[in-house]
Amino acid sequence: METDAIELRDVSRRYGAGGGGVRALDGVSLAFPTGTFTAVMGPSGSGKSTLLQCAAGLDRPTSGSVRLGGTELTELSERRLTLLRRARIGFVFQAFNLLPALTAEQNVALPLRLAGRRPRRAQVREALRRVGLADRARHRPAQLSGGQQQRVAIARALITGPEVLFGDEPTGALDTVTGRHVLSLLREMVDADRRTLVMVTHDPVAAAYADRVVFLVDGRVHGELTGGAPAGEIAARMASLEADDAAAVPC
Ligand code: ADP
Repeated sequence: METDAIELRDVSRRYGAGGGGVRALDGVSLAFPTGTFTAVMGPSGSGKSTLLQCAAGLDRPTSGSVRLGGTELTELSERRLTLLRRARIGFVFQAFNLLPALTAEQNVALPLRLAGRRPRRAQVREALRRVGLADRARHRPAQLSGGQQQRVAIARALITGPEVLFGDEPTGALDTVTGRHVLSLLREMVDADRRTLVMVTHDPVAAAYADRVVFLVDGRVHGELTGGAPAGEIAARMASLEADDAAAVPC
């Protein structure tokens, strides 16, 4: 039976109170089945980052439920949430976020150390091999290209064996060709290892690597494309959402 790695039910997130408050998410219900790759798109300010933060337990919804596997995140203390994130969630960011003073293998080993586990060299080397960087283990980030740094970040995100991987514009800082390699790698992590990947992107070509593209507008789900929609179709949908969004802004 297919299970959901993450399930959001009627999630709202308000910033600020009263008339000046912003409803960044407004009653979002979404399920992310195990072993699937979902891209989240929408105009600027539509709530994509807030959705990712709430789904990953980095931010708390004002109301609603967020479940990771069988665990209700909204009921956990900060301490338990931190432990859960370290053990069960991986993150890949646009800016790589590697520690410059550490080598590639030390960066990859870091989440294990934070979780109080002793990193085994063979495990770290295997993670680097998976991302094609077996021969760069002793290099520091400054000695690596952008694409190589992002591959180190992917190895780091996967070292604890997380169920879910969140990407926030993971190819945003890379050139087109390098970005495609990173996306292929992420796709492989979903297909070969049954990880669940949720990625925010504004790039229709990146979104075309996903099984499903969810569109957000004004903090609400505004339709989706499934079944590996081509980049052209995704771009056309985005263009129409952005045109509607621009038309709705009072000048
Ligand atoms: P996106 O990622 O799609 O650009 P965000 O989730 O960053 O959208 O933001 C959604 C809305 O919430 C925007 O109107 C934004 O200004 C507002 N917002 C986001 N974070 C905060 C915050 N920390 N404080 C106040 N408003 C915020």
